Amino acid sequence: MKKRIAILGSTGSIGTQSLEVISFFPDFFEVEVLTANNNSELLIFQARKYNPNTVIIANENKYLEVKNALSDLAIKVFAGNKSISDIVESDNVDIVIAAMVGFSGLIPVLNALENNKKVALANKETLVVAGSLIKEISKRKTISIIPVDSEHSAIFQCLVGENEKAVDKLILTASGGPFLTKKIEELEKVTVKQALAHPNWTMGAKVTIDSATMMNKGLEIIEAHWLFNVPTNKIEVVVHPQSIIHSMVQFTDGSVKAQLGLPDMRTPIQYALTYPNRFENKLDKIDFAKLNQLTFETPDFKKFSCLNLAYYALNKGGNMPCIMNAANEIAVQKFLNEKIKFTEIPKVTENTMQKATFIKNPSLNDLITTDSEAREIAKKNN
Ligand code: MN
Repeated sequence: MKKRIAILGSTGSIGTQSLEVISFFPDFFEVEVLTANNNSELLIFQARKYNPNTVIIANENKYLEVKNALSDLAIKVFAGNKSISDIVESDNVDIVIAAMVGFSGLIPVLNALENNKKVALANKETLVVAGSLIKEISKRKTISIIPVDSEHSAIFQCLVGENEKAVDKLILTASGGPFLTKKIEELEKVTVKQALAHPNWTMGAKVTIDSATMMNKGLEIIEAHWLFNVPTNKIEVVVHPQSIIHSMVQFTDGSVKAQLGLPDMRTPIQYALTYPNRFENKLDKIDFAKLNQLTFETPDFKKFSCLNLAYYALNKGGNMPCIMNAANEIAVQKFLNEKIKFTEIPKVTENTMQKATFIKNPSLNDLITTDSEAREIAKKNN
C-alpha cells in the first residue's frame, strides 16, 4: 500500500522539496492533499502535475481562481484555514507533512495528532508555541512526531536504538548565518538582501532571516526540548559554519554521535517519510577528500541576542515562547518590509515579551489570544 501524503504548505521551500522527494519513490508514496496559503499559481501547477485528491487555498479570495483552473480534473478544491485543519482528519491521509510557516501550522498539527496521523514536522513554531499541548497529545496517542528540521532529524537519527536516560546533552549545530563574521556595529546597516543571502541553505524568507539573527537556533532549542524531553541546561549550541554536521548527541559515557550530510533539506524530508527505513536516492553525497575542514566555535550571545531571548523564554515557560514567536514573526515581517533595522528585530521581540500578559499554564485558547496580543504589541512597537 502506498502511503498517502498531505502536504500543508506545499508551495513553500519544504513543500516543494517534499514533492520532489515523493517523486523519487512513486511506488511508495502518493500525494493526497496539497494546501497553500496564498500562492495559487504554484498550487495550480502542482495540482496538475501531482494529481492529488484535494487542494486547499487558505486565502478564500483565491478560491474561484483555483477552482476554475482545475475544473477539467477530478480534484476537490476548498478554501480557508478551517478546511486545512479539517482535511487532516481524512481517512485517505496517512502522513501529514506540516510545512506551513509560523503559528498557522498549530491547529492542523494538533488535529492531525488527535486523528492518529503520522506527522512529519517542519513547522518548528508549532512546538515552540504549544510544546506542552503537543507533548500531551502525542503521549496520550502514542504517536511520535518525526522531525524534518535538519538539526532535529540529526538528533532523532543519533537517538535511534539509544536509551533516553543515557543522553548527556544535545549539541545543536548552527551555521551562524550570513553575518557570522560581521562586527556587532556593522549589523545596524545590513540590508534585507544581505540578510536573505544564506551561505549554505536554501530556505523560505522567514527562516532565512531567523538564521541571520540566530532566532532560528533559539526556536530550535525550544523545539529540541519538546521533541527529545531534554532540559534547557542540556541543550548546547555550537557554531559550525560548514553545515556538514547537522547536530550531535553526547551520551553519559562521553561518546558523541553526529549525523553528517550535505546541506540539503531533501535528506531529512526523506528520512521523515521513510523512517525507520532508509531508501537509496540519487542526491549528491559527501566527498570526504574534498571536505577541507570542519570548524566549531561558541556563538556570540551579545551579537546574536535572540539566543538569549529563546533560553529566557524556555526557562520562563508558560506562554512566553508563544509571545516570543509571535513578536519575532512580526519583527521579521517589518524588517522584510524595510520598516525596521535588522538590529531592531530582537528589540521589538524583547519589548513585546516584557509587555504581553504572562500565563503560566496556557490552554489552546490562551495561546491563540496570546498570539494576537503579542502581534498587536509588536506591530505598534518600533
Ligand atoms: Mn534547522
